[in-house]
Parts: sequence; C-alpha cells; structure tokens
Amino acid sequence: MYPITDIAPTTAAILGFPAPAQSRAKVIAEIFHDFSRSRRIAILVTDGLGLSAWRKWKKTMTFLQSLHHRRSIVLRSIMPSITPVNFAAMVTGADLAAHGVQTMNSTFACQTVFGIVREAGKKSAGIGLENYTGSNLLGRCADYWGNAGNGSDDDIAEKIIEIATQRSPDYLIAQFGRIDDTFHQYGPSSPSVVPMLRDTDSRLKLLVKQLKQLSYGVIILSDHGQHDVHAAREGDVCGAHGTGSPEDCLVPCTWVS
Ligand SMILES: [Zn+2]
Repeated sequence: MYPITDIAPTTAAILGFPAPAQSRAKVIAEIFHDFSRSRRIAILVTDGLGLSAWRKWKKTMTFLQSLHHRRSIVLRSIMPSITPVNFAAMVTGADLAAHGVQTMNSTFACQTVFGIVREAGKKSAGIGLENYTGSNLLGRCADYWGNAGNGSDDDIAEKIIEIATQRSPDYLIAQFGRIDDTFHQYGPSSPSVVPMLRDTDSRLKLLVKQLKQLSYGVIILSDHGQHDVHAAREGDVCGAHGTGSPEDCLVPCTWVS
C-alpha cells in the first residue's frame, strides 16, 4: 500500500522532474518503470470509488477490471478523506499541513506539479465540472482550465479529449465528480449505483483508447472512498466520507503506459 501523496513525485519523475519541494513522498517504482516510454501523462480520478466499493462492484466494470488484472495497487488517502485535500495531495506530494488546501477555492501553500511543469516550459491541464475541485482548484492552477460546466461525466470526457487533441498538455488531471454524487445519493453498497458504474466503465474504455492514440500514459485512481450511512431516511445522504476508516481511505489505482 502507498500513500496517495506518492502520486506527485511519481508523475513528476515520469516527466523528468524532481518531486515538488515540500513533498516527502516517494516515487512508486512500479508505475515509474512502466511509464518510461510515455511522453505525456493523463490522471483520471474516479471520485469516491473506494477499494471496498470497487471490490463489491468490479464485475460490473469489465474494462477497469481488465486493467487491474495487469496493474493494480492500493493507495491510502490523507486525512480528512475529502476531495480537495486529496487532489491537492496528488499534485503536491504533501499533507494538509503543508499544502494548505481545505476547499476547492483554497490557494496552494507549497509547490505543485503544475508549477514545476510550467517552470520547465511545458503545459498542464486541470479538468472537471463547474464548482467541483477538478475545475475550481486544478483548472484554476493549470495552464489549461477545463471547465466542463454543469453537465455529466460525459461532458468531462469530451473536455479531456478536446484539450488533449487541441493543446497536447504534458500533464493532465481530471475529476469525474458524478461518481461521488451518485454514491452520496444511494450509498456505495446500493445496487442503484451499478448503472452509473457501467457507464463509467464504458467512458474509461473509450477515453483510454483515445488518450493512448494521443501518446498519453493513463493513471486511473480515486481520491477517497465512501461508507454507507445506515440510519439514512428518504432524501438523506446515503453515502459519506471524511473519516479515517478503510472504506473512506483505501482506493484502487491502475495504469496503462
Ligand atoms: Zn463526496
């Protein structure tokens, strides 16, 4: 198991850069060695799809399962196990005390991979829905701000391909926020999440194919998981996260170079 902060020095190393200055995380050798021939990196984040939900539903996601069959590790989110804190960990290699990002509107208190890429004369992109971390935090700090509006995860996929085709950033990170929304609505163990997971799997299959054609290596991981809220009544939130439990903190990670 690796801390999620390791994603930052790992992606920096693949691009040929040292880790962000405040990072005490390490390069994940398994990923780094596979990526030696990839010129660009795309990080696709399945928001809220934790290891426990993944293990429960992976038979419904045959493409993602085929990737995990070849390359699969488990990451541990940092605390609190919420979205902006863990996306910030992925792009800084630092914990909350060092990166200072508590909300999607926070300012980074330390160096990011976006900054390293920019200083080297290369380009980055951050992509997500409006008023989600992918757009408001990552897009705002990247060279190319991918705001997919108030739509669906399909709109995010479209924005990824648009930016990858027209701008060819060396480093691209995207948040699929509707996965987390659906888990909150039904709870991660509810069969009601399965249609969304099937759609997510088809979307990832198409995206990986297109990104590979555009010379990207792809890393697919989650920022945190979720747990079922058992006392939920109708209209209540049925899935939640933010605690240090394995359901909230352990997430799957795979990659295609
Ligand atoms: Zn959430």
